[in-house]
Amino acid sequence: MTTSWHERAAALQIDGRAFIDGQRVWARSEQQFENLSPIDGRKLGMVARCDAADANAAVASARLAFEERSWAGKSPAQRKRVLIKFADLIQKYGPELALLETLDMGKPIKYSQSVDVGATANCIRWYGEAIDKIYDEIAPTAANSLALITREPVGVVAAIVPWNYPMIMAAWKIAPALAAGNSVILKPSEKSPLTALRLADIALEAGIPAGVFNVLPGYGHEVGAALALHMDVDCIGFTGSTRVGKQILQMAGQSNLKRAWTELGGKSANIVCADCPDLDAAVASAIGSIYFNQGESCNAPSRLFVEASIKDRFIEKALAMMPKFQPGDPLDANTVMGAIVDATQLKTVMGYIESGHSDGARLLWGGRQVDGESGGYYIEPTLFDQVDSTMTIAREEIFGPVLSVLSFTDLKEAVKQANATSYGLQAAVWTSDISKAIQTARALRAGTVHVNQYDGDDITVPFGGYKQSGNGRDKSLHAFDKYTELKTTWIQIG
Ligand code: NAD
Repeated sequence: MTTSWHERAAALQIDGRAFIDGQRVWARSEQQFENLSPIDGRKLGMVARCDAADANAAVASARLAFEERSWAGKSPAQRKRVLIKFADLIQKYGPELALLETLDMGKPIKYSQSVDVGATANCIRWYGEAIDKIYDEIAPTAANSLALITREPVGVVAAIVPWNYPMIMAAWKIAPALAAGNSVILKPSEKSPLTALRLADIALEAGIPAGVFNVLPGYGHEVGAALALHMDVDCIGFTGSTRVGKQILQMAGQSNLKRAWTELGGKSANIVCADCPDLDAAVASAIGSIYFNQGESCNAPSRLFVEASIKDRFIEKALAMMPKFQPGDPLDANTVMGAIVDATQLKTVMGYIESGHSDGARLLWGGRQVDGESGGYYIEPTLFDQVDSTMTIAREEIFGPVLSVLSFTDLKEAVKQANATSYGLQAAVWTSDISKAIQTARALRAGTVHVNQYDGDDITVPFGGYKQSGNGRDKSLHAFDKYTELKTTWIQIG
């Protein structure tokens, strides 16, 4: 199996051209950038470095398609059929998409196949299936009038996404936006553009008309900013860092006040009480969730609060699990932790590990870069104990395989510390006491609170954060709120 993925990788043809108006094209400036694999530093190919000129072309094409109603004018049932075909084709091309995802951002092929491809197809299918089952409203007004409350597509939507789950993050935005009838321009991260570009080919094959779905690879400060500032983009769906999310909101305000939705960073707290119903499950979940995707998950539970009386037992069990997460070749089907996305991110994570040492946290496992001779970027799963809330590793998002353990004796104080962050994406509490669970869930300021688990995840459930973790929600029917306008039509009835 290992050889087979390597062989497939060697044979892969990579097309780095942008996708505008139904066609693969190079940037108008003819500028390109190198796409390197974090697995071994190998050059995968050249990618179009789009800028404002390409943004203008894509927006013009998207606007024309919207005004000509080639997609927006189709009935919801027609759009449903195309989106279901899109999802089926994603599964058909699943092995190729999984391979591109792994080569581009370093995650294990095992998960690119089982998680990323499956969740992307499922998301597109689910919004396709939903769109012809949603009814509009009639308001309970007086008898001499009729007030219709209807939803309309917002128009041209720009989706700007990060590199940690390139296809899934794209699907969370393009699926509801397309299902609602919008034209969409997707801007993938410069670190992981390849699957987004293939999705555009596949969307065309599924029957999404030219201009309705465009993909512009390139740098954030160039093509990303051009979209955020564009006067003819009606809505921007952004997932990425809180730093850039703030800029997106500013650019929206500075230009045409486009609707701007942000899904940003996190520093999620996982609180394990001494009366936790299943300590083994709590350990497996805490460890599995922080090291999944090399720790490069916005909702990774990076702050683990353990009640002091069970901390030693918890840590003993956690350490027994660590060897399983030793990084390995992402193209080996048995690997569970792969490569960090690039040299910059590796340096950032190693800097945080250094700060853990200098702030006085106690390193219990990992902490080193490994397999550097491969040319790729690998960091051991890392566990710090004796962390306190003032330390940098307990305050800032690391976005790497680093877990900080804090202990508590008073649950109220643990909740206070859990909330003492500018983020509010997710949190968890483990306890057998139902009242304690509900009181704690209520007190935690986060978009999602888990009780006695961490990995609850379903397309039917909203995903997003409080505070500086962003606004609006991806997933579930609530995502339609972001990509539709609410229209009221008053009709006088004589
Ligand atoms: P990032 O903010 O650096 O980049 C995200 C996207 O924005 C990229 O496509 C980038 O090119 C673009 N961009 C950068 N500067 C821009 C600018 N000036 N104008 C317009 N676009 C610009 O984030 P990243 O490093 O790619 O991703 C990691 C971050 O994403 C983490 O903070 C993580 O928590 C967050 N994230 C959040 C969620 C969520 O749902 N809340 C999900 C995944 C990742």
